[in-house]
Amino acid sequence: MPDVTSRKELGRGERVLPGVYRLRLPLPWPGVPHCNAWAVKAGDGFVLFDTGMHQQDSMANLERALAMCNLRLEEVRLVVCTHAHSDHCGQAATIVKQVGCELWMHPSHELMNLMVEDPQAVFARRLEVARQSGVPAEPLRRYAAERGTPESGIVGPLVPDRDLLEGVTVATDLGDWVTYETPGHSPSHVSLFQPERRLLISGDHLLGRISLYFEFGYSPDPVGEFLSSLDLVEGLDARLCLAGHGRTFTDVHAHIDGNRELVAKHLDGTLEAVREGEPSAFEVVRLVHGDALSEQNAHWLLSQTLGYLTHLEVIGKVTRIAGETERWTA
Ligand SMILES: [Zn+2]
Ligand SMILES: [Zn+2]
Repeated sequence: MPDVTSRKELGRGERVLPGVYRLRLPLPWPGVPHCNAWAVKAGDGFVLFDTGMHQQDSMANLERALAMCNLRLEEVRLVVCTHAHSDHCGQAATIVKQVGCELWMHPSHELMNLMVEDPQAVFARRLEVARQSGVPAEPLRRYAAERGTPESGIVGPLVPDRDLLEGVTVATDLGDWVTYETPGHSPSHVSLFQPERRLLISGDHLLGRISLYFEFGYSPDPVGEFLSSLDLVEGLDARLCLAGHGRTFTDVHAHIDGNRELVAKHLDGTLEAVREGEPSAFEVVRLVHGDALSEQNAHWLLSQTLGYLTHLEVIGKVTRIAGETERWTA
């Protein structure tokens, strides 16, 4: 019986080029309804780049999307993950176990392992960062009370068969795809480039609809790393981008510039807020985002703001003042 009470999204698949298929898989997140996995023909099967998130019916959705492209799960010869976020690697363990193929991903996935093995520790660390950043006691207490064990969306733990480091190639019928480390969005992020056809599997590093996210707390300067990754990808001169969410796009350079402009705008806003006095990170969030701040987006805004503050510190524009609540000065 179809579920008529909730509008259920289903996995869908389509061919975007000969031998390249977009598998659009549903996500449970508001504002981010799908993610993409990409199937690229290789010999008698295909390489699966990214996997979708693990949730109820998620394998059925992947198989449905594959079937729309005349592909079968049993034909997966290799799973390659662009980064260790649940929407990109959540089903990897299930797939490699079921079909008996290898999993390749970048080794910097400390957060993902923690999320799978000890989600409470991740949550406790978040609370501690929030407290130190000046989030008042009362919302912090509510956040802690309402939040049960967070769902990781990942079947794991994941044990990659090969570390997807810079220069590692993935063979397909379209030629070899070369791995480039593109951290920033996540320390484990890689992009894969097919040089003869100038195709780029960009994960969440470059998205058709520009949206920034930096995994804060697991590398020294995620914003700086992201900007360096943009420079690197610009040099590849890709002609078509196969991104982790949304449709493919061709105006890759315009997207790179758009990302740089948005980062610059956020850095300016953050610096301006620091000049107001000696704010905590949370006060910076309030100054920059004002009414847009809610208990739903507070964690997200705070972690982005900490990313910007850290980058401004690295480039010598602000200084961190240690204390019970950490403060910032221009
Ligand atoms: Zn991601
Ligand atoms: Zn994603």
